[in-house]
Amino acid sequence: MEIGFLQSSDSRCPISETSAKKFAKLGVHILIETGLGKQLQIELESLDKVSDKSRDEILSSADIVYSSDPLEASELTKLKQNAVLVSFYAPFNADNKVDSLNGHNIHVFSMDMIPRTTLAQSMDVLSSMASIAGYKAVLTAAQKLPRYFPMLMTAAGTVKPATVLILGAGVAGLQAIATAKRLGAKVEAFDVRKAVKEEVEGLGAKFIEVEGSIDNKDAGGYAVEQTEDFKRKQSEKIAERVANADVVITTAQLRGRPAPTLVTKEMVDEMKFGSVIIDLAASTGGNCALTEGETTIDYNGIQIVGDSHLENKAIIDASALLSNNIYNYTKQFFKEDSVQIDLENEIIAKSRIYTHETSA
Ligand code: NAD
Repeated sequence: MEIGFLQSSDSRCPISETSAKKFAKLGVHILIETGLGKQLQIELESLDKVSDKSRDEILSSADIVYSSDPLEASELTKLKQNAVLVSFYAPFNADNKVDSLNGHNIHVFSMDMIPRTTLAQSMDVLSSMASIAGYKAVLTAAQKLPRYFPMLMTAAGTVKPATVLILGAGVAGLQAIATAKRLGAKVEAFDVRKAVKEEVEGLGAKFIEVEGSIDNKDAGGYAVEQTEDFKRKQSEKIAERVANADVVITTAQLRGRPAPTLVTKEMVDEMKFGSVIIDLAASTGGNCALTEGETTIDYNGIQIVGDSHLENKAIIDASALLSNNIYNYTKQFFKEDSVQIDLENEIIAKSRIYTHETSA
């Protein structure tokens, strides 16, 4: 049994010394694309059962190929018959590359489709990365804000604490709340899912209430589109809180749809000089109307940072968590010295996005 790891467009390493040793214990041979691990100065190829190979060698021989990026059509043809490809295809996004898989004699699994269940937590890359992004969002804001976060009583006078507003209290938002609290800021948070109120308050932040939101229990915990009446009420409330905030961190996403615009230009016009907005939803259009993709802009003295990949600012921990998630997920395919696809296993079944048997 062989599992191959390909280089990707980001700097994270999908296999660690720890996960390599665990694969080796299962009797799995690990193929790493030449150079993988060098970004973290780890010598993976010196470990037991790890071999350094070219990209083409891995594509044509591994039973399971892991690639953080979807493969190009020309590379799909190089995979061996019935190979398992594990990647991130975001099939819920309109511009996904799932159609490019058609006709290939392979089985493809997308780790962003792993259900958000207790059983799957140890494989949930989205959560691992969102948590790091939420943490780094606060540190980025603290660096950029021309103020302190905590309240300070000094001989020269009292410094008021910064107010941090978090929009969207999912995995990233909750980690941002906890981090901002630890730095001594006053924290407020808003989410359309009322279920998170208790979690927000448990972290010591104030939950901003807007009546009339819709929760859909069938949406797997994800937020759903809201009514126009709710959006108007929400917008009025957010406008008031944005004007009062020193830092706004936005994390609101709608699976498969553009991110909702929560912070309008008019709201930013009312913000104080020096305020900072960190928009983690930049890659899906942004939660702030003024966000310019994955860049940082200065709008009349207000810094607006678009960045949906802040986990890449912590590549050591991001790589460690990513490699653990991949090991926990892919080990389910190794059964009795062969690779098996167990569709009775809900995690495997729900994350399968393509198989040649269903492509006819
Ligand atoms: P996400 O990245 O899809 O969205 C981030 C947050 O933005 C969510 O909390 C969402 O409700 C919120 N949001 C969306 N539209 C909004 C709007 N208009 N205004 C304000 N907020 C808005 O979410 P996520 O962090 O990936 O989490 C998705 C769900 O999965 C959550 O219910 C989370 O608790 C759950 N989850 C469960 C597990 C598990 O049990 N294993 C693991 C991770 C996440």
